Amino acid sequence: MLRYEEAPDPVPSCDEALVRVRACALNHLDLWARNGLPNVEIPLPHISGCDVSGVVEWVPAEEKEFRKGDEVVVSPGIGCGRCDRCLSGKDDQCRQYTILGYGVDGGFAELVKVPRTNLIRKPEGMSFVDAASFPLVFLTAYHMVVTKAGTGAGDTVLVLGASSGVGVAAIQVAKLHNAQVIATAGDSSKMEKAKGLGADYVIDHYKQDVLAEVRRITGKRGVDVVVEHVGKATWESSVKALAKGGRLVLCGATTGADVTTDLRYVYNKELTIYGSFMSGKGELLKVVGLFREGKLKPVVDSTFTLEQAADAEMRLEKSAHFGKIVLTV
Ligand SMILES: [Zn+2]
Repeated sequence: MLRYEEAPDPVPSCDEALVRVRACALNHLDLWARNGLPNVEIPLPHISGCDVSGVVEWVPAEEKEFRKGDEVVVSPGIGCGRCDRCLSGKDDQCRQYTILGYGVDGGFAELVKVPRTNLIRKPEGMSFVDAASFPLVFLTAYHMVVTKAGTGAGDTVLVLGASSGVGVAAIQVAKLHNAQVIATAGDSSKMEKAKGLGADYVIDHYKQDVLAEVRRITGKRGVDVVVEHVGKATWESSVKALAKGGRLVLCGATTGADVTTDLRYVYNKELTIYGSFMSGKGELLKVVGLFREGKLKPVVDSTFTLEQAADAEMRLEKSAHFGKIVLTV
């Protein structure tokens, strides 16, 4: 159960900073954690919230880069900082890797403690709400579309669920890398918004047959890349929608994970299936740079106050949103 209540102030160690939260975006990970995941134990009481922007409240005296009062965005991934993976910039593959608000208390709070190496300067002129809205989903989308699938000019990318956080990010990242984008969305207003973000074609996934539309749009060729996070409801058509040499990248399975795959498609078409889960901080800094340059833009659906966190989670659960739902503190 999600409850709004008093909690003791977090006490940071000398490797950590204390951040006064100004905004915190919602992610599906908050819902997964609240509903429970197999083989994952989350000690209770737990504070959700992975995407934090705010103001530095306290840093240890030896911290040179940030001071009290600095406006920051917090990198959501937390690694050990010592292993070969962490030190080669792939902290997301660290054995101790976790995410703020998932493995440790997060930003649905007035104060949050974070490793001080996770502080990133907030892009100038960007609101706290916008700043909280992008790290997790844009990092995820960048890793999927660019690092994993290697999307470039000449590629056609199918983005499922354009209104989701990952969807709005994947459309923009794919367009930035000169791909043609086909997106799917659930109603006409969401379809218009997806076009506004740069999608070349939008399919209504409730009224139209996505696979048939993809074949029509691509002249039966199929797409080069599918950005998947839906899972069971779309998996089979996602595999079939791929052209020869196509790449399917998956970062979640919101409708279920027990899927069947016709392996003949995989070998006959020489398909590649990539799993993707977050990425390292190095890549997040690249993404922040693209926001600073104005090449990517935050997409905020709505804001709720911290007291209204349960209403906000309900909006996410019902898929009523387009873009990110953000709590203001
Ligand atoms: Zn590590």
